[in-house]
Amino acid sequence: MAQQQKIAFLGLGVMGYPMAGHLATAGYDVCVYNRTTAKADAWVEQHGGRLAGTPAAAAQGADLVFACVGNDEDLRQVCVGAQGAFSGMSSGAVFVDHTTASALVARELYAVAQVQGLGFLDAPVSGGQAGAENGALTVMVGGDQADYDRAEAAINCFSRAVRLMGDSGAGQLTKMVNQICIAGLVQGLSEGIHFAKRAGLDPEAVIEVISKGAAQSWQMENRYKTMIEDQFDFGFAVDWMRKDLGIVLDAARDNGAQLPVTALVDQFYADVQQLGGGRWDTSSLLKRLKH
Ligand code: NAP
Repeated sequence: MAQQQKIAFLGLGVMGYPMAGHLATAGYDVCVYNRTTAKADAWVEQHGGRLAGTPAAAAQGADLVFACVGNDEDLRQVCVGAQGAFSGMSSGAVFVDHTTASALVARELYAVAQVQGLGFLDAPVSGGQAGAENGALTVMVGGDQADYDRAEAAINCFSRAVRLMGDSGAGQLTKMVNQICIAGLVQGLSEGIHFAKRAGLDPEAVIEVISKGAAQSWQMENRYKTMIEDQFDFGFAVDWMRKDLGIVLDAARDNGAQLPVTALVDQFYADVQQLGGGRWDTSSLLKRLKH
């Protein structure tokens, strides 16, 4: 039965901590690892379960090993670095990576895993901190159907939607599409609010009306109030977005896709970093536009 699967979870950050918590709440036997041990201590205190001192130790005996760390290099470290998870995993176990990383690193680690008789799924998420805490993430998966089938029930513990998109790397490529769609949209929303203020309109009234029509979006619904109030502490940070857009633009150079707006918005986010906004949320594009 799925509930008896043993699970390791590596990386208890903003996203990983609540995701691992949902697995424990669902009844899985969870062993956690976090580079900074204090977070693993706090997690075990809150959720029970066990903690391990290395990714390899956490992965021992696990059927599924989840990870949610920062970038490509962090992912390599927890998988194949010193005391990496792959060295502790048993043949047949599946590694499920929720980091937003490149499709290249996904395929590289998939190939290493294959040689060792392990499964590897790239499974980046969308939905932010609130989605992780509420168990309402969207998960886009790349890899083999058989591995997906073994992991799906566990992934469902913290997800509203999960789907196998294709071979290894397809999950990361789908997440790139997600970020491309968001980048231009947030700039458009920023310009709309900026224009409304310049035109002497009440921006709140404007958005309330137009959000009932064709201009509606998640960003509009969830961010317009805080943007108008000049508050930018509500989710996904600009530094993370620049990491993601860097991955997107690298992939576009490889596949020939034309992303002029995405490239421009990436530079606008560089401006926001220059303003000291690396940790502000992504709606802070508005800060570049003079009121
Ligand atoms: P975070 O709060 O900074 O957490 C990162 C986690 O990774 C921490 O547990 C950190 O350990 C661990 N880590 C980083 N580098 C490591 C390394 N080299 N070796 C071992 N552990 C390492 O980040 P987050 O917000 O949870 O985001 C995690 C991933 O999800 C990122 O790829 C991000 O782009 C993606 N994502 C985030 C959001 C969001 O809204 N936050 C939404 C969608 C996707 P320490 O505690 O020791 O630092």
